[in-house]
Amino acid sequence: MTKIAQLVQTIQDKQADAIWVSNPINIFYLTGFKSEPHERLFALLITKEGQQTLFVPQLDVEEVKASPYDGDIIGYLDTENPYAKYDAKFDTLLIEESHLTVQRYNELQTAFGVQSFNSIDLTLKQLRNVKTSDEITAMRQAAQLADKCVEIGTAFLKVGVTEREVVNHIENEIKKHGVSEMSFDTMVLFGDHAAAPHGTPGERKLQNDEYVLFDLGVIYDYYCSDITRTVAFGNPSKEAHNIYHIVKQAEQTAIEAIKPGVPLSELDRIARGIIEEAGYGEYFPHRLGHGLGLEAHEYQDVSHTNHNLLEAGMVITIEPGIYVPNVAGVRIEDDILVTENGYESLSNAPK
Ligand code: MN
Ligand code: MN
Repeated sequence: MTKIAQLVQTIQDKQADAIWVSNPINIFYLTGFKSEPHERLFALLITKEGQQTLFVPQLDVEEVKASPYDGDIIGYLDTENPYAKYDAKFDTLLIEESHLTVQRYNELQTAFGVQSFNSIDLTLKQLRNVKTSDEITAMRQAAQLADKCVEIGTAFLKVGVTEREVVNHIENEIKKHGVSEMSFDTMVLFGDHAAAPHGTPGERKLQNDEYVLFDLGVIYDYYCSDITRTVAFGNPSKEAHNIYHIVKQAEQTAIEAIKPGVPLSELDRIARGIIEEAGYGEYFPHRLGHGLGLEAHEYQDVSHTNHNLLEAGMVITIEPGIYVPNVAGVRIEDDILVTENGYESLSNAPK
């Protein structure tokens, strides 16, 4: 069944009349047309009969026609009311409650006489959760480019270089490999600075015998990677070294448990168990990982509260960490595809 056919089925199952998709990433996922509309109205309407209509600013119409999307198009000028160009009434409309603004909600109510709204969020998340082979091909490439970024960054390390300089160097160099955008702000943190799991790279200078944490990813053919490597520059302290090996073991053991049918919560339990056993449980303050795809963080959580089962085609991150103030911050993160029989690590930078 195509994605649109599955959504039409959902409209019928929920006894609704139509779906109004407003998140540009979901619109791209469903149409193959990508746009950042800013404050302008941009939405895909799918009726229970399966009719698709894309509302776009007039200035985007030619690009829509050149895209894979083949449904109806309503282009509007900045001075026009886009809703007035579509004559319909919907009693029940499915919307993305995590995205639609209150302003748009009110506009839809007025324009289409909507009596009740219902959420389509979970259905869209579930659709995006399992990747097609084309999506996996893009994600494999995105992960390999992230590996390359770590290699570039590691080779640039020297005493006195700043975190910000390493970030700039990585981002400039990876552009020569066809990357135009990182999937989030590149993170390079030195020594004790890495003990803040979401620190900001700055003017901190690299010294001998400390760890360097790289957390980065690229967007390749619309798909994101997100990996972390922590590398030793010289010989960090014995405790820092010990922490590194605990994190590495926690990550490896959790990854090896990945196969269809295993609860996501089980992966978190395995990694957390190893870290707790070693006495560092309180220094691992975040979930084990998250879904990855068109967005760097997407459905679903790899946490102890998510008991959903792994399915072939899902891509998740596994990223345990231990952050001890004034000692060390270590995180290791890989992008893992769930396969029919187990897993494939899309990222392969050395550990
Ligand atoms: Mn990351
Ligand atoms: Mn991550």
